Amino acid sequence: MMMAAALGRRRKPTNRKRDKMPYNSASPRGNIRYELASKMGHLPTTTNTVIGERLSLYKRPETQFDATQIKKLVSAATDLQQPLTPEIQYVVAVDGSGHEVQEAFDRYPSTRVLYMQIAGIFISLQNLLDQPGQFVDPARIADAIESSVVSGFLPGSYLEHRDYSDPVVAFRAEMFELFAQTEIQRRTLVQLLHEIARYGLQEQSEAALAGFQLVTKCPNKKCDLNDPKAARPGIRVPWDRPGSCPKCTGILWPTDTLRIWEAFQPDASNGEALGRTHQLIEHLVLFGVALGFEELSPKLLQQTAFICDGDLAVFGQAARFQRCLRGAWQALAARAKAKGHQPPAVIGVAKSGYPVEHLHGIRRFIEPQHMMRLSHGYMTERLRVNSLDETYFGRKLFYHAEDGQLLCITILPDADVAYDTKREGPNPKRQGPADDLSRLERYSTLQRTLALLDRLGTRLYDDALIPISLAHHWAAYPLANAERILRLLTENALGANKH
Ligand SMILES: [Zn+2]
Repeated sequence: MMMAAALGRRRKPTNRKRDKMPYNSASPRGNIRYELASKMGHLPTTTNTVIGERLSLYKRPETQFDATQIKKLVSAATDLQQPLTPEIQYVVAVDGSGHEVQEAFDRYPSTRVLYMQIAGIFISLQNLLDQPGQFVDPARIADAIESSVVSGFLPGSYLEHRDYSDPVVAFRAEMFELFAQTEIQRRTLVQLLHEIARYGLQEQSEAALAGFQLVTKCPNKKCDLNDPKAARPGIRVPWDRPGSCPKCTGILWPTDTLRIWEAFQPDASNGEALGRTHQLIEHLVLFGVALGFEELSPKLLQQTAFICDGDLAVFGQAARFQRCLRGAWQALAARAKAKGHQPPAVIGVAKSGYPVEHLHGIRRFIEPQHMMRLSHGYMTERLRVNSLDETYFGRKLFYHAEDGQLLCITILPDADVAYDTKREGPNPKRQGPADDLSRLERYSTLQRTLALLDRLGTRLYDDALIPISLAHHWAAYPLANAERILRLLTENALGANKH
């Protein structure tokens, strides 16, 4: 996802690869990342003598495999003593992509706009489409997906706004506009950001409860409060409308709290800022839909899985919002439990990156329907994933599904953080054994999650976006209509109970 964003590639009207996959033609992203992956795989490392010689100084990834260590972490999915009911019957999946469109104005190829689309879909697993006699019109699937898209505009490089002459200010203004105008099941993104802020650090949470977002520094470089230390604990901005800096009186938007504007470059590519933005919006969309489901039908909520393309993590400037997302999801799960329900499953599916490649390398050590916990040591020493505490709100886990698929997922802990280096990592000051936050009883939706993954199987790894791929196999509804569908399902369920 990040790669597609970073590429900033302009869509070409024809693309042979895409032509082979008519179902994907409606997708704004196409399969850029897969094309890129295959190109990377064919670098001339074996024929180029310079590269070959230098590479001989490096270890092949296989030499990092340690069968003993791996086996200690592997266990059977069936050994989990966890609730298997209610079975997951519905899936909400989102997947976003961003494009940096060059030549915003004719003949000025350096002028750029940032454009993002987020596909979201609601799938009922009770209605399998590939039954004989079912007719699916690919165009209708494409329509279903397109109509549920969140689309957004942000200014890119070399653009000057009519009212805001400073390009960074224009970027911040447009970001607020995007968040204020985009609605997910009756809540705007600004509202959702406010909703989750109460689960942040104490000062952020207190500000949220009083109706504010906390902006940790003033974006005005000339302002004294541009230094986060001076601005500590942060500048309070009304959660739903612009405020101002108490020092320089400059305008501040509640979305400034995300600090994505720090990645914005007025005179260069903005793939990073774009990628960060749509990643955060994807997480907000999933959570927003979950809140909508909770209100409409708590009973169906517990039968629903929320699947995000990529990790349950927030990278970059907005990373501190990972804590907010975790807290918000855990609070939702706690409310479900208080009703005597099981919490919904929340899953991130990573399709690329070193951990995915590593899993493919070690597959012979993990039998089908077995999973591998990833201890803190394994994450940092073998998989070289850093800043776990700051970015991840879910815990990474490898699963070898029943049908042979290898899945690298992140799952939400019932309570507490996903990672804590102080408690898990080597700490000479500490007495006694380190805390193991990868222990499986912390993830009570795990067994139902794995059962769902067995059921979805290869469909998650089709060469397409997750929502599109799933929509080819089961009855799918655009998220925009999910509310109506949910009402119908609820009424049917109520009707069935009467008889
Ligand atoms: Zn200021």
